[in-house]
Amino acid sequence: MKNLRKDKGGFTLVELMIVVVILGILVAIAVPIFGVVTSNAKKKTCRNNIDTIEKAGTQYLLNRSDENIFGVFAANAGGGTATTSVTVSSKAESESKLSADFLSYFDGGELPLCEGETYTISINAANDNRSISVVCSEHGARVD
Ligand SMILES: [Zn+2]
Repeated sequence: MKNLRKDKGGFTLVELMIVVVILGILVAIAVPIFGVVTSNAKKKTCRNNIDTIEKAGTQYLLNRSDENIFGVFAANAGGGTATTSVTVSSKAESESKLSADFLSYFDGGELPLCEGETYTISINAANDNRSISVVCSEHGARVD
């Protein structure tokens, strides 16, 4: 009877513990790698977003006359230079702080954003070097 039970197969407690420990080690290796991959993907998306906003902004500035380059911002829709920089972290915020005219430069009229991040959009109004710059709260400015 005793011999029959021994030949029945199955795993001993030690064998099961070894399997559990090996799985634990694999998970411990995989989780940080997954985190790095996710973080790199997010950074790449962010960089593309900033690139898109800066390119659209540059196009917008090229199409404006001197007195209304600040029309990027909703607060200046009537002209003037009261606002030179805004922070945007959601679609609703971009719609309230940016002019509809500027948003029309983007696909679907929607500013590309990264969830949980805030973009600071600024206009440099130097006469011979007008530009728009975007800085992400998480990733900083776009670096070429
Ligand atoms: Zn970012």
